Amino acid sequence: MKKLIPILLAAIVLASCSSVMLTGRRQLNLVSDAELNQMSFTAYKQLKDSVPLSTDKTNSAMVKRVGTNIAAAVEKYMRENGMEDQIKNFQWEYNLFKVNQVNAFAMPGGKIAVYDGILPKTMNETGMAVVVGHEIAHVVARHSAERYSQQVAAQYGGAILGAVVGNSSAAVQNGVGLLYGIGGQMMLLKYSHNQEYEADELGLIFMAMAGYNPNEAVTFWERMTADNTKGVSDFMSTHPSDEKRIARLKQVVPKAMQYYKPKGK
Ligand SMILES: [Zn+2]
Repeated sequence: MKKLIPILLAAIVLASCSSVMLTGRRQLNLVSDAELNQMSFTAYKQLKDSVPLSTDKTNSAMVKRVGTNIAAAVEKYMRENGMEDQIKNFQWEYNLFKVNQVNAFAMPGGKIAVYDGILPKTMNETGMAVVVGHEIAHVVARHSAERYSQQVAAQYGGAILGAVVGNSSAAVQNGVGLLYGIGGQMMLLKYSHNQEYEADELGLIFMAMAGYNPNEAVTFWERMTADNTKGVSDFMSTHPSDEKRIARLKQVVPKAMQYYKPKGK
């Protein structure tokens, strides 16, 4: 029996693995979209209740337009490539908040927040597509579910796996309660550097699919690097260092260009 347990655990972990689209990276996922989205949507609502939206109609509309364009292009690609089942739980929403910080983030299920302090960096619609494309990539690649699963696996080990086997989500829910107890803190579950690089890569491909030139990502990050006051920003502090990041972005641009369809063509 003792020998069986590691085999059983390995089998559960394998069964709970899925692959990220276009990168093919295998990831652990112990939580369902339904469980995570329920908390995410509540947290996003709390965010909207407590943080003022931007009153700038032009830029607010631009954020929504960019998000809608990119998500539509990604979903079209996913439908055409047999990934419909991964789309059905998305409830996309994009808002520009009036917060003077260079920041943007995504919550599971498609809830995107952009702070208007990032506007001097994005400068135009394509610059905004770099930011929103990156956040949509975190959602599509289910990075929060993966981070959560890794933490739960580390924290609860066999108990959580036992619960998964027993088809009970109680332990999962306890874990969720621990990590996400304060709804608004959900976005503070930091991504790994590998996830950030993956979101950069996918973000470039996604913006290209929607007709935004992915070369703009390099110029956007060069503008971000030129700023010395970025220390307070979550968007920056949770991300890989600028030099490495720009080097990686340059490597990925040719791949993204294969998906680039300029608007109106
Ligand atoms: Zn990120």
